[in-house]
Amino acid sequence: MAVREDHGWREDAYLDANPDVRAAVAQGIVRDGYHHYLLMGRFEGRRGGGLDREPAATTKLCFDPWENAEFTLDGALKPCCIFLHGVEMGDGCGMEAVRDAPLFRDLRHRLLTGDLGPECARCHIRPTVPAQKFVEALYPRLPGSKHLLDCGKLDRVRVDVTQKCNLRCVYCALSVEGAPAGAHMEEPVLDRVSRFILEHPGISDAGINGHGETTHHPHWREFCEGLLEGGAPLSIITNLGRVYDEAEITTLSRFRVIQVSIDMADEELLRRIRRKVELGRILTNMALIRARALQDGRRLPVFSFSCGLYDKSIVRLEEFAALAVAMSVHIVTFWDLMKYPDLPGAENVRPLAALDGAELRHGLACYDRALAILTKYRVDVQVAGGFVDGLRERSGCAAATT
Ligand code: SF4
Repeated sequence: MAVREDHGWREDAYLDANPDVRAAVAQGIVRDGYHHYLLMGRFEGRRGGGLDREPAATTKLCFDPWENAEFTLDGALKPCCIFLHGVEMGDGCGMEAVRDAPLFRDLRHRLLTGDLGPECARCHIRPTVPAQKFVEALYPRLPGSKHLLDCGKLDRVRVDVTQKCNLRCVYCALSVEGAPAGAHMEEPVLDRVSRFILEHPGISDAGINGHGETTHHPHWREFCEGLLEGGAPLSIITNLGRVYDEAEITTLSRFRVIQVSIDMADEELLRRIRRKVELGRILTNMALIRARALQDGRRLPVFSFSCGLYDKSIVRLEEFAALAVAMSVHIVTFWDLMKYPDLPGAENVRPLAALDGAELRHGLACYDRALAILTKYRVDVQVAGGFVDGLRERSGCAAATT
């Protein structure tokens, strides 16, 4: 029998209890009882497999343990940024070994069944969806495979090269009093990660960013140049808030995608909230990177903006949308704020979930007008975790039609 009898699943008992499924498996119509249960059986109320607790109606719309692997600071591999620990990988360890590791496999099972662990249950990155919708969405992403549990190409990697940052945004965990100083990925780990990525030419995107600012790492450029020379497709999320030297601008101009972390177009307020960042510096860096790519005859990096939505940014969103259009940004991704304690004397901000009814309705009206501008100029908009839908529901404001 192909399916492994772990996670509490009892394959034979399920087939005994459901003879029509046993026949379908024998005829090759369905791969095994486990897959039948996930795809149909649980929605039909079938019993016997051992997962007979009330089947979860919802799960997270998340394909990460099938598609994504993230290097921790010590070089282990985990499924996403929310997990703290990963799978230790020795030299010569391949992506298949990572994919089949219990951490990844159990997570796939949990997402498939909706029996979420603590990380996924509180995850704000991915939206909650009906369990059946998740399975329907997953299948087309696994072409040529019916193996829901034992498959996945893991062709996207992220590298948490540093936990340190050059800024101290008021809303960031790094700014909280007593927050750990964080660390840089050490050179032997950088070397090991680099070898791993270059040994897997099927990787479609290597995101060189984690919890801190990548370009704050003293060896970020050498690390990235090694990967670029080997043909790795690099992307980055960066605040672009530093003054870069010529060599750094050249390296950045070789990236495939650059996502700039920026929340508003109001220079003064941005400086007070993100502390130390200058809007002019960010925009100058974008222009320099594009100019260098043109000068060297390379394709321009795709620029996108990553924008935190909170009380003070959402009411200025039209101006921000106009800036995104003016800077020829391709994608704007909005993300929700996790609230940490206020900082004494700082320009503190509130998450949208804390706004009262009138404030929230006003904010959502600003959001809709910004959306209209972005849509008009064909800027793609993504909302991490789909959190705006929940806010609309709470405020009673339907989405504006553009
Ligand atoms: S914590 Fe969130 S992003 Fe990570 S695997 Fe779970 S649902 Fe996906």
